[in-house]
Amino acid sequence: MEYEAVIGLEVHAQLLTDSKAFCSCTTHFGDEPNTHTCPICQGMPGTLPVLNRKALEYTVRMAVACNCKISQQSRFARKNYYYPDLPKNYQISQYELPVAEGGIVEIETEEGSRKISLTRIHMEEDAGKLIHDENKPVSYVDLNRTGVPLIEIVSEPEIRTPEEAAEYLRSLRAILVYLGICDGNMQEGSFRCDANVSVRPRGETGLGVKTELKNMNSFRNVQRGLQYEIERQIEALKEGEKIVQETRLFDPSSGATAPMRSKEWAHDYRYFPDPDLLPLRVAPEMVEKIREELPELPAQKKKRFVEDFEIPAYDAGVLTAEPDLAAYFEETVRLFTEPKAVSNWIMTELMRELKGEETGISSCPVTPKQLADLLRSVKDGTISGKIAKTVFEEMYATGKDPAAIIEEKGLVQISDSEHLAELVRKALDDNPKEVEKLLAGKKKLMGFFVGQVMKATKGKANPKLVNEILSAEVAKRGG
Ligand SMILES: [Zn+2]
Repeated sequence: MEYEAVIGLEVHAQLLTDSKAFCSCTTHFGDEPNTHTCPICQGMPGTLPVLNRKALEYTVRMAVACNCKISQQSRFARKNYYYPDLPKNYQISQYELPVAEGGIVEIETEEGSRKISLTRIHMEEDAGKLIHDENKPVSYVDLNRTGVPLIEIVSEPEIRTPEEAAEYLRSLRAILVYLGICDGNMQEGSFRCDANVSVRPRGETGLGVKTELKNMNSFRNVQRGLQYEIERQIEALKEGEKIVQETRLFDPSSGATAPMRSKEWAHDYRYFPDPDLLPLRVAPEMVEKIREELPELPAQKKKRFVEDFEIPAYDAGVLTAEPDLAAYFEETVRLFTEPKAVSNWIMTELMRELKGEETGISSCPVTPKQLADLLRSVKDGTISGKIAKTVFEEMYATGKDPAAIIEEKGLVQISDSEHLAELVRKALDDNPKEVEKLLAGKKKLMGFFVGQVMKATKGKANPKLVNEILSAEVAKRGG
């Protein structure tokens, strides 16, 4: 029997507000534990939370970008549970009346684009953080994160493969980053994903028993975790076992998932409307204003790149994943109007150098103007494409202009035909056996001779010219 997976994702995105959701404490990350707290976010009795207007605006921005239906009236609810990092013993969230419902996120798959429906987007506050001592049986609690505003974006169970799940997360993250409402940093936990997954015989429409996966802190780990879990469930069903509804933890080192706790049900949380907070009315004027001010979103930008710059959809997808990168590409193309050449260079040489840089293109020491100058010097024949790679590495390491590096290192391409012809003849004379084979029809040896000339010139010979001269010379010798 063939099985298929049914995947629904719950994403928590931390909003980039300066202050917390219901008090004026700063949301700044990475400071000394418990330095950003007050009686409200510590959950002292008698305090009253007040909603951060910015947090609401950001939530509506996301809802508008995803074409959600924005509720005229929504409500905050208390989600009751006990945990040492939650002094109030409840989290302010939304339950039966979320800020937004419905909506879609478009993803690219191998079979073309697909629309994944959203169930809802709601607002909530984050809990604190436990820090476990590695040497002693002691845990500490840091409440700096307590009360930081989050939105939870819940998808319908329409995702079918781990690859689609990763693609959905990439799209969602890109939208949040473009909107400027979340930094999308998975390592720091400002973009987190839990996955609900079940399997069923292909063709069936009912849903199987699902498990919830946690602790997947990268796109790759989401894919790995889902892959493992899908295979585990299929194996179990084939063996005639029952799937248990539970929460499972992904272990990045083994790639496996293991039971964490039996799955809690909504009624376990005893949700009820938070009596400290008024019902939330979102003014239609506010929604309209946000709609008007919406920036160009990744999907639109990607479409525009394909149409205006005539680059493949794949390239456009990579280049528009981050708004800064897209801006870098556009500025370089403005200065050197060969989009495909610019795109190739950014996607190979530049991305290779950027690998491991957490801050991405913003830490790139090569300006769009310098990159445009480099590509121009290849086009006008000053240097070869191969040498350009060396020059680029040097530019990246030193921040110097390409012209200065070419000058300093004497890298100007040799396009003197007389000189190159001499080198070609020498290469042929020095390798009589290879010449014999070449003349006998082993055309592949052309590359060998071009290589000899390149070696003699330390890679500076104009490869196009060398090829032409070599062909002429070989023809002369009877090839
Ligand atoms: Zn506070």
